[in-house]
Amino acid sequence: MRRPLLAGNMKMFKTQREAEELAEGLASSLSGVKDRDICMCPPYASLHVLREVFDGTNIALGAQNLHWEKEGAFTGELSAEMLKDAGCSYIIVGHSERRQYFGETETTVNKKIKAVHRVHLKPIMCVGETLQERESGSTFNIIETQLTRGLADIRLTSPDQLVVAYEPVWAIGTGKTATTDQAQEVHVFIRKKLAGLFKNKAEEIRILYGGSVKPENIKGLMLQADIDGALVGGACLKADQFTAIVKY
Ligand code: PEP
Repeated sequence: MRRPLLAGNMKMFKTQREAEELAEGLASSLSGVKDRDICMCPPYASLHVLREVFDGTNIALGAQNLHWEKEGAFTGELSAEMLKDAGCSYIIVGHSERRQYFGETETTVNKKIKAVHRVHLKPIMCVGETLQERESGSTFNIIETQLTRGLADIRLTSPDQLVVAYEPVWAIGTGKTATTDQAQEVHVFIRKKLAGLFKNKAEEIRILYGGSVKPENIKGLMLQADIDGALVGGACLKADQFTAIVKY
């Protein structure tokens, strides 16, 4: 019922030439995939490169961040309007690296999701607990706070206006993946909270898992009833690995 979404987050990796090579590899290896959605989120500098390579293919373009204002004196920032103009369909919001290194808060996440909706694109909203929070037993409290504050006053007319990515911070870029049971347990919790906010639309909202997803673990994750796809960092930088993940 929920169409899988496999999204790649290229973070701050690859020059334009290197990104082009990766995109060309993916456009060719993934061309026959029809039953799932695919998206790549390159660094801003390579958006136009991937746009050209993916034009007319089954791979959508996404961005890794945005500013919530439409325009203004905000040096170094890009607005949702600009990212739409650059060809993006999805925008990642609230990635843990932005929360950790760039002062992203629940308030800014909320403003950014509203800005993504203002231009009718799809936010991929990231939530997740740190290792310390997991070990102290506060995983569910943290996720609940991130969801309720990040999604405050958000209305959905359709369930595809929101994608949530559960990314346990301790599993990002560390090689440690949550077990399929650990991930499913949190996904069920997230869906329950989404039902409180968006009623029956929650059943159709896609919840991705992220954190050291690799060709070797994607199948087990996708077998879980509430895991609807993956947000992939490191492994999306190699065409053969991301292809194997998409084709799990
Ligand atoms: C991410 O950047 O969202 C991520 C999950 O990274 P990795 O797959 O490298 O852990």
